[in-house]
Amino acid sequence: MNLIIRNVNLIDGSGADPIPSASVVVENGVISWIGEGDVSSMNRSHYEEINGQDLTLMPGTLDCHEHFCGDGGKDGVRIMSQQADDRDVLFERAVNNARRALMAGQTSARDVGSPHGISITLARAVAAGAIPGPRITASGQWIQFPTTWPGANMRTVNSADQMRETITAQIAQGAGLIKVGATGEHEDGSGYGTLGYDVAKIVADMAHAAGLKAAAHCWYARPEDTPGVFEGARQAVAAGIDSIEHGTHIDEETAKLMAEMGTYHVPTQSTWDYPVRAAKRWNMPRSDLEKYEHQRDSSIASLKRCMKYGVKIVAGTDAGGAPVRHGTLVREMELLVLSGMSPMDSIRAATGLAAELTGTLDHVGTVEVGKLADLILVDGDPLYDMQALRNIWAVFQGGQRIR
Ligand SMILES: [Zn+2]
Repeated sequence: MNLIIRNVNLIDGSGADPIPSASVVVENGVISWIGEGDVSSMNRSHYEEINGQDLTLMPGTLDCHEHFCGDGGKDGVRIMSQQADDRDVLFERAVNNARRALMAGQTSARDVGSPHGISITLARAVAAGAIPGPRITASGQWIQFPTTWPGANMRTVNSADQMRETITAQIAQGAGLIKVGATGEHEDGSGYGTLGYDVAKIVADMAHAAGLKAAAHCWYARPEDTPGVFEGARQAVAAGIDSIEHGTHIDEETAKLMAEMGTYHVPTQSTWDYPVRAAKRWNMPRSDLEKYEHQRDSSIASLKRCMKYGVKIVAGTDAGGAPVRHGTLVREMELLVLSGMSPMDSIRAATGLAAELTGTLDHVGTVEVGKLADLILVDGDPLYDMQALRNIWAVFQGGQRIR
């Protein structure tokens, strides 16, 4: 199907100024022409034509932190854990969540942890055209030490050698990135530890040797004045890990290092925003609410330090791994703006920069000639009002109209 979108406000995802009146031509699923103004000298008889007046055309968005096997919601994480041994049920959930994300205009995604590596199968099923969904970069299982994360359904290792073996196995299974738990604590506060520089370096080096990126979960519930609480993220960054996930405890020194090393930060503000907003309807005990609010405040402080030093910030929700639902990346983009980011930078965090982090920028992430036509049309202009991103007019993936 060939397509012309005329007279549209174009935000291309690279961070460049918008073009208030642009025309974009798509041929055989690929963006073949972009120009200012209207398209007039073309034979249009074989093209579907959309008048883009009052609409904004953008790249489809990319949520860089999802867990497709989990539905989100109040008990979603617990249900995913309980059903971890029933692969078929989890796969069905993942299929449904992938469709939800796509319908919301999220034409690409990164899955950072699923029991049994189900997300790798999911990514293949989408790539094969067997099911609708975002183009997925999937880590498979994530890897952790018993002291860095208590989650039972991921791959726990006890030594550097086991870490090496497990990474080799993940790569053989088809992982698109390596995800590790670099810091963590049990709910009762025990098991407080970090991966350490040496093991983090093994992870980063092995991932890079395979042409992949390495992502590290760095999250504490502890107050910022707890001794050593900033060490986990700093070790991971120094070791060459590519992205810090959550990043509740990033101090000035680490933020500066991230900017120098080109480390990405995926702050997942939705992780705390969702339960804080749900506290009333869930009848949440005051102590739980305070814990979430405290984590939210630490993470915002860390994000602001990263922004101050020019760290690359990428949008991710933690959908499925927290109560956050799939297909809600717009809220995360709003939260980035509420933390002081410009709307343009927030859009870039969910498009061009996100594609850079997933290693897919050569074919998606920006509206450019030669790239796949993964596009959304929204009513209004998100640079004036981020709400526009909720008013989806159309979603295209590879030039095919999805919605
Ligand atoms: Zn997560």
